[in-house]
Amino acid sequence: MKSGLSRRGFLRAFSGRAAGGGLALAAATATTEAAANPSEARSLPLTAAGLPGSSKTFFNPQRVLLWESTRKEIREALSAGHLKAAIVPTGATEQHNEHLSLIADTAQATLIAQQAALNLYPKAIVSTPCPIGYSPYHMARKGTLTLSKETFLAYVFEVVKCLKAHGFKTIFILNGHGGNHRPLRDSMDQWRKELNITLEADSYASAYKDEELSTFLESYRKLRDGEYKTIDQQSALSHASENETSIMLAAYPHLVRPVTMQAYDEAALEYESNLSQDVLEYLEPFTKEGWPKGKNPENARDRARQEQALLATREKGARLIDIATRSLTDRLEKMIQATEQGLPWPPKD
Ligand SMILES: [Zn+2]
Repeated sequence: MKSGLSRRGFLRAFSGRAAGGGLALAAATATTEAAANPSEARSLPLTAAGLPGSSKTFFNPQRVLLWESTRKEIREALSAGHLKAAIVPTGATEQHNEHLSLIADTAQATLIAQQAALNLYPKAIVSTPCPIGYSPYHMARKGTLTLSKETFLAYVFEVVKCLKAHGFKTIFILNGHGGNHRPLRDSMDQWRKELNITLEADSYASAYKDEELSTFLESYRKLRDGEYKTIDQQSALSHASENETSIMLAAYPHLVRPVTMQAYDEAALEYESNLSQDVLEYLEPFTKEGWPKGKNPENARDRARQEQALLATREKGARLIDIATRSLTDRLEKMIQATEQGLPWPPKD
């Protein structure tokens, strides 16, 4: 890294000194430490003063965040030709089982965008994240906020349009929430035509291959080895489970709560009865002919996710962040080159 700030060091700065790998332990430690010393609460923004000491020259990692910059800084970086690309993180404010904060998807996309921008410094900047996405199917769980698909897409498009107006010709929309993925991908051809810039949208999770994940994530190994017998276990992997929980433990331990399966079961959660008409309207497109036997099939999957989340560790999270960051860095570098050479995007083979 040109900055002299290693990714590992940066991650350490984010994750603080929370000890231990396990979900319950690390989260509890983080909570205690933050309470004991509020100035060490680990959340964005992280100030340069919070970085580990070293003889190397650090720059403030917040400098790659558009919303922390001033107009003077943006203007001068653009006019000097240093700043070439913007990353727009998109996420969600939605339920992530019993243990993760609602902002998890937004936080993860923003983190990986920031890591890649640091790798590419001073060529890339992270735009203000879009913190609510398309999550109607999670509305039965309290706290979830959702936009309609149209509103979400209009919002993201207008952010990208502003960035283009300021002179950004290379823009990557980095998504952190599954429900946003297809709508964004399906919009690319049209948006590229309208904006005539080097534009890409993809989820950070696209960088992960099941085969690679199965070498260090227990849930993916169990899937590979056929140890998950139920469809709920097999399909629980992508949301609030081992991978997302590991990333959150590594980067934002204060956004992870301790949880046990005993507490989960004692809460006797179910999401098919006592739902208000307002909530049912959000769910209606997904229940179609109604749930089989009146049961919401998401309930069993919810429990499987909770079990898989207990496999999470900070170390696994650091690896996941590293894979996604390297992928985004490489792709953005290629996009910047395409823009500079006047080549089409996506490349025509
Ligand atoms: Zn998520």
